[in-house]
Amino acid sequence: MAGMRSQAMHFQARAGQKLADEVLQGALRRAQPLFTAKRQKGMASLAADGLDFGHLRAAAAAIRQAVLDDLDVWLELFEARAKARGAEVLWARDGAEVSQLVVDLARRHAVRTVTKSKSMLSEEAALNAALLAAGVRPVETDLGEYIVQLADEPPSHIIAPAVHKTIAQVDALFADAHGRPRQTRHSSDIPALAREAREILRPQFLAADMGISGANFLVAETGSAVLVTNEGNGRLVTTLPRLHVVITGIEKVVPTLEDVATLLRLLPRSATGQDISNYVSLLTGTKSADESDGPDQTVFILVDNGRAGLLGSEFEPMLRCIRCGACMNHCPVYFSLGGHAYGWVYPGPMGSVLTPLLTGLDQALDLPWASTGCNQCGEVCPVDIPLPALMRGLRERQQHQQLRPRGERWARRVWGWLALRPRLYRWLTRGLVRYLHWLADGQGRIRIFGLVPGWTAGRDLPVGPGRSFHELYAARKRD
Ligand code: SF4
Repeated sequence: MAGMRSQAMHFQARAGQKLADEVLQGALRRAQPLFTAKRQKGMASLAADGLDFGHLRAAAAAIRQAVLDDLDVWLELFEARAKARGAEVLWARDGAEVSQLVVDLARRHAVRTVTKSKSMLSEEAALNAALLAAGVRPVETDLGEYIVQLADEPPSHIIAPAVHKTIAQVDALFADAHGRPRQTRHSSDIPALAREAREILRPQFLAADMGISGANFLVAETGSAVLVTNEGNGRLVTTLPRLHVVITGIEKVVPTLEDVATLLRLLPRSATGQDISNYVSLLTGTKSADESDGPDQTVFILVDNGRAGLLGSEFEPMLRCIRCGACMNHCPVYFSLGGHAYGWVYPGPMGSVLTPLLTGLDQALDLPWASTGCNQCGEVCPVDIPLPALMRGLRERQQHQQLRPRGERWARRVWGWLALRPRLYRWLTRGLVRYLHWLADGQGRIRIFGLVPGWTAGRDLPVGPGRSFHELYAARKRD
């Protein structure tokens, strides 16, 4: 969707602000070890069940890839089966069409209040703003989403939208929004804050005319949506209002329930370390005559928003993503900056690939470079998406489309020319190492680096050992 506006252009400026934000830095420092420890626990439980991550990941990747190979077939089957169970299926080309369809539905059904379960697609579509403009009140009910809605901020993580907030900040938001006397010291009482949110949200669930959710998967053979949550809000959003709208990307379809079972072995373990999430809902059609719960009408809005254009391209593997968040939980760049630095819906390594692909390469110039190249994201991805390779592919495209600064492009060309002449390359790198040592102070650090001042603007650059990589490697082979 070239031309879709995002703030991803301003990554570098935002990164500087986020690094200087001590409250944010404290929140991120506390959160990351929890995420990585949880995934480790999840992987340990996989091994305890006699399952091997590598084998399971290969199976999950194969399921997702097989869908992409015949996406039209699976989508048509899903549409037919969903309609057979009484649901309506609508298609949206982009975010604007999503918003228009939902607003039209709200008008047609005289909807005044909408409860929402977490839906990244509705973030892509900036749906809350469109609903408010149409006089419809959207209420986020996932606790993290509720917090960022009160703060008038976008989510900063795909599974933990308010991970950038401290307890004190949440307490202050609740005090402002709920107007209740504070009964407990905020620093020690997360359960009290959760209880307070639940008490405020409960009447909203009951009053809502429309519930909006995403879907973790769409099942082609049954025409169902699979929803995986931990808070139970998803069930209330999808069963209490008379109208349920599922908004999801076209790539979320999988052929069978058996495929879902395979993917569910990996999704919660990769995301939160749980063997299985607290609530796994299989939502099929509308409420039947012998059922007491469920919507009178179910509408699926299946959204392209740039996804179909990735099919058959070198970036197609990105469509395998099951939105577990493991790549960002293991990314040193994400946990140095938080999600808002990335400027659009998807942060971290998956966002660094997906945002340029969906919003336009010229709209997210720095994101493919927002990586240390450590490949932790590629290692933990449960559907084996080669994220670092995809980021390199985007950088190559930027180079070919002349989207990087001229000096940088020339430097890369010169490097490429030299890399094809190993003897000259070795001779020059030896000279460069000596030059760096000449620049360094007595502690082996460079304070000011004239040609590329960005390297030394915020810290001293260590010069490294006295020999080049080639010299060290040759010495190692000799030993
Ligand atoms: S790219 Fe992989 S690790 Fe990242 S969110 Fe998607 S499935 Fe999870």
